[in-house]
Amino acid sequence: MNRLARFFRRQSLRSWIALAMVCSLLPLLLSAAIGYAVHHQTIVKPFRDVLIRQHDILIRLERIQGDYWTITEAVTAYVLTGDPALRETFYTAQGRVEEQFERLEATAVPQRVGEVRAAWQEWAQASADAAAVLAQPRESLSGAIPDFQHVIEVEQQFPALARRLEAALERLRTESEASHAAALVAFRRLEYGALGAILMSLGMMGIGAFIVNRAIVLSADELVAGAKRFASGHSETPVQITVPPELAAVAEAFNSMTRTIQLQKEQLSDYARRDSLTSLLNRREFDAALVKQMDALAGGAPAFALLMGDVDHFKRINDTSGHVEGDRVLRRVAQVLEAEARASDLVFRYGGEEFALILKDASPETAIAVAERLRQAIAAAFQPAAEAGQGGRAVTLSFGMAFCDAAMPPEALIHAADQALYEAKANGRNRLVVRGG
Ligand code: GH3
Ligand code: MG
Ligand code: MG
Repeated sequence: MNRLARFFRRQSLRSWIALAMVCSLLPLLLSAAIGYAVHHQTIVKPFRDVLIRQHDILIRLERIQGDYWTITEAVTAYVLTGDPALRETFYTAQGRVEEQFERLEATAVPQRVGEVRAAWQEWAQASADAAAVLAQPRESLSGAIPDFQHVIEVEQQFPALARRLEAALERLRTESEASHAAALVAFRRLEYGALGAILMSLGMMGIGAFIVNRAIVLSADELVAGAKRFASGHSETPVQITVPPELAAVAEAFNSMTRTIQLQKEQLSDYARRDSLTSLLNRREFDAALVKQMDALAGGAPAFALLMGDVDHFKRINDTSGHVEGDRVLRRVAQVLEAEARASDLVFRYGGEEFALILKDASPETAIAVAERLRQAIAAAFQPAAEAGQGGRAVTLSFGMAFCDAAMPPEALIHAADQALYEAKANGRNRLVVRGG
């Protein structure tokens, strides 16, 4: 039972549809088979029986005809030779004819029984006449002319009877051929009709299969292909189904689900790339971007600058105004840096109150100008007046910058920028110090 259930569970949609179509076609095929059997039993078999009977009658009539000729010859030979053995030939043939007539009467259809009896009586008369001739000694036949005349008449009765039988035979043959031909035509028509009906059913089944295939199976295939694309990470191409509406609705729900998941994936990857406090790119992104920029340089890209910034005396802010205020300052610094940097510059939170910027495609003059602009923008943003109503404090950043115009390890570049930053701190803070890479 379990195995059967498992077997059915494994069947594809196509198999189920094929099974349903065969089931729906089954009554038609069954009725065609029963119709054929019934037709065979009620029409073909009786017709064959009639043909067999007709054939039987034909054979008997032909045998009678043959014996008539045998008797005619026997009587003629007896008159000529007087051979008593010819009587034996006559009686044997007579017995056979009697037997054939008995059977004919038994098998004849009611409307033909009269004809059979009439022919039988004619035969009985002729047979008695012939027996009378053969009963006389030969010598007594040849003498008198009237007697001889009688013998000739007796002889001639049989060919006459045989000719009449021939006419009956001919009639029977024509009748049987006509009914045979008519039955054959009817039978052929019936066969063509049945064949046509079966072909039409199969054709309709084909059309039905085509429609179901277009409407359901292809759509289901598209759904499966879409699910596979999604599973292998390619969810850009949506599942496109128009019919049937049920599967179109499933496809739409599927597309909306993949859109949501895609969005969530993008959000997640964004979370992983950004710092949660400032929303700037995080330290991991910085490391990767620096390696990438080094590679680009090795590949022929222009020189770039690494700018490190550190909030001056940030600990004091934490200590005097608390960490919440410290966080707010960090967020504001991040905003200003992003707003003032060029579109091609990358801004990172390096760690704590330290920031890093990669200034791509910049000559030393441009890089210095950008760094100076950033420094001044921070100082301006946190002037006591600008911060009015929010505690009002001065916040500045010290910057250290290093250039990179040749291959070097990333750590060396970071170290150079760090050294510059250290120098800026040592020289009084809120300033930019530049170092070669
Ligand atoms: P200097 O001018 O020499 O850089 O002095 P500083 O006080 O800024 O330097 P220091 O390294 O002594 O202090 C940095 C402080 O930044 C210490 C740490 O508690 C604080 N800090 C680091 N990350 C965060 C943060 O995410 N939020 C807040 N509120 N404080 C942080
Ligand atoms: Mg610091
Ligand atoms: Mg600091």
